[in-house]
Amino acid sequence: MTNPQLITIDGSQGEGGGQILRSAVGLAVVTGKAVRIEKIRAGRSKPGLMRQHLTAMKAAAQICNGVLTGAALGSTELTFEPQQVVPGKYQFSIGMAGSATLVLQTILPALLTASGPSEIILEGGTHNQWAPPFDFLQRAYLPVVNRMGAHVEATLERHGFFPAGGGRFVVKITPAKSLTGFDLLERGATVSKSAKILISNLPLNIAEREAKKIVQKLSFQQQDVTIEPVESSGPGNIVMAEIQFENVTELATAFGRVGASAEHVADEAVKQIRRYLTHSAPVGEYLADQILLPLGLSAAQPASAGTQRGGSFRTLPLSRHSLTHIDTLQTMLPVSIVTQGNDEDCLVTIKPH
Ligand code: AMP
Repeated sequence: MTNPQLITIDGSQGEGGGQILRSAVGLAVVTGKAVRIEKIRAGRSKPGLMRQHLTAMKAAAQICNGVLTGAALGSTELTFEPQQVVPGKYQFSIGMAGSATLVLQTILPALLTASGPSEIILEGGTHNQWAPPFDFLQRAYLPVVNRMGAHVEATLERHGFFPAGGGRFVVKITPAKSLTGFDLLERGATVSKSAKILISNLPLNIAEREAKKIVQKLSFQQQDVTIEPVESSGPGNIVMAEIQFENVTELATAFGRVGASAEHVADEAVKQIRRYLTHSAPVGEYLADQILLPLGLSAAQPASAGTQRGGSFRTLPLSRHSLTHIDTLQTMLPVSIVTQGNDEDCLVTIKPH
């Protein structure tokens, strides 16, 4: 018999990747609504669940004793029936270098308003291409979330790079009764500009050449560009350039890889920062798709005295990730999301229905 409460999500719509899956299941845990996801990652060259998605789905089920049906490596359909969230201590390991931050992205929303604190240990990749690097989580994303009433602290214990993985970080969550919305419309004054270059099991001169490029091209002060040799299970090289403003922090990341010169990698980070700086909107492309969900939750909760429900932010032109995310949020939550703007600047407003 079909479950009338079941929400069916077409995983191939819009961006058609892993995010629609993570947000639908993450929202299912918060709302208690069951979801069926079909055509999982149909837009990707290897469709279906990969290891990191499977770990994220299992993590979601574990924190609420939910029932997950059909989830296996490569599966393109699954059903998830959540139950009450149980805060506490959990450990999730993704074999190999799957992104551990994306597993956190799936379960964090529910733990932000759970009935007690949680401590989550995540093991796997901490700095992966096509995922938020740990530093982005800590420097750009969590400061926004922490403005909403909950308190989340993330500590990196060991770096994990593709393909060896083996990284580890700990996240401590003090939940809020309800999430307070926000309006993030201006960057505010510049507080600092800095860059950090991670290098592991590779010649130091790669990082030195990257540092030189960053100083030359972004006019950062030499002393604000640091090289951090780190221990990890395999080779790794990441260039992260950060600009902290009063109201927001933007962090651009470029990933060292075989076949790309150190100069080319540094240039990729430079290009991203320059693109951000040609606009005046505070919220960068990646942060936009990541803060939509907590802001949506703040709009969806019942009105309670003194708590702002929903809010708005100004961002760069919306990515397909953000547009797909907006559709998922409006399917799963009683919220309306309006976007206004042009190629330069976009205003996103989220309100309760
Ligand atoms: P998906 O491609 O659907 O698995 O989703 C990727 C997620 O990773 C999205 O939430 C992106 O915002 C995020 N992401 C990808 N690259 C970066 C990056 N360089 N910095 C921060 N977040 C990123």
